[in-house]
Amino acid sequence: MTEHLYYHDSFLYEFEAEVIDIVPPQNTESRPAVILDRTAFYPTSGGQVFDTGWILPAGSDESSKLRVSEVAENDDGTILHYVESSGQMQKGSRVRGLLDVERRRDHMQQHSGQHVLSAAFVRLFQIPTVSFHMGADYCSIDLDTRTLTPQQVEAAENLANEVVLENRPVEIRFVTQEEARELGLRKLPPAERDKLRLIDIRDFDLTACGGTHVASTGQIGCILLRKTEKVRQGWRVEFVCGKRAGATARRDYATLAEAAGLLSSHIWDVPQQMQKAQEELRASRKSREHLLEDIAELHAARILAGTPESGGRKVIIGAFPDRDLTFIKLLAQKITRQSANAIVLLAATEGQPALVFAQSPGQPFDMGALMKQALAQLGGRGGGSKDMAQGGPAQSDGIEAVLTELATRLRQS
Ligand SMILES: [Zn+2]
Repeated sequence: MTEHLYYHDSFLYEFEAEVIDIVPPQNTESRPAVILDRTAFYPTSGGQVFDTGWILPAGSDESSKLRVSEVAENDDGTILHYVESSGQMQKGSRVRGLLDVERRRDHMQQHSGQHVLSAAFVRLFQIPTVSFHMGADYCSIDLDTRTLTPQQVEAAENLANEVVLENRPVEIRFVTQEEARELGLRKLPPAERDKLRLIDIRDFDLTACGGTHVASTGQIGCILLRKTEKVRQGWRVEFVCGKRAGATARRDYATLAEAAGLLSSHIWDVPQQMQKAQEELRASRKSREHLLEDIAELHAARILAGTPESGGRKVIIGAFPDRDLTFIKLLAQKITRQSANAIVLLAATEGQPALVFAQSPGQPFDMGALMKQALAQLGGRGGGSKDMAQGGPAQSDGIEAVLTELATRLRQS
């Protein structure tokens, strides 16, 4: 088992150790792993993600350092430091480990912030945390509760930040299972180890945890709660702490400012302006629909007036290079409603080409079958009923020729 130096000191960013073993890559995808007798590198566990950094032979300059890109822990407590290649490192050699300090600090801020936040939900509302997730952008806790109001979220955030401002000491303590039971921990892990590691935020929270934490709550900086959502086991609360909170707030502001710029408004008026824009859009869509109806109605009357009957029917064909499916469908409906003996074969070639075939009720043809014949020549898909069919031909070339041919056949039958 590797000696876990971070158990005692989260601020140990540099250490010396001996190489116990080098595990060769297990396949072409994987990397070699270095096992040391002691390490300050934190492996992924308990919701906190691993540290990264470098390993280099003791006494050598930093040009020979190897990047530690991932750290994992085996069930027996052995910690694996994954490196791109093990270089000249050998079993028994002395090495120096260097942590990526920025990353470790960020993790300490997020993880300690989580303790404070989880304790705040318990203190204020007796809502326990069931799980913790640390992501690259934000962290989240899942709360065991059926309801969570915005007021509760705000109150928990306020209390958590109060505790940050009070700069309470955060101490590491080791106790036995029995001692732990008497202390009344917020969370008691399943009894498997005889010694438990406790994180004690003075007079505020006491919980068992193996992660890395700040030395006093002020180092968390601040705690910012963001999205909340209902999940299967309760409520998920997203949050960010410390420098991440600043970066996230900055990004939120930039996004909001961009939206405000587009609306020519103040950022606080964005929702109101968006609502106004949506209403305007709905109104203009409605008026456009009315106009289209009117145009189609007039167009239909004009087409019918200009088409002579042959064999008691009016067979109408039309190709519209600047219209879409919606319009030719509307036009076909108007024509077949205004006349009791019309058959219309229409095409629109603006954007995606479209076909609409329709006949007045009672006419003897089958528009669905006719559409299939047209598409057999043009490619594409479509179909419909006896009186109305629509299709999307694969190409607009040749549409007019096909329509002319079909119309000639209809006129002769
Ligand atoms: Zn912790």
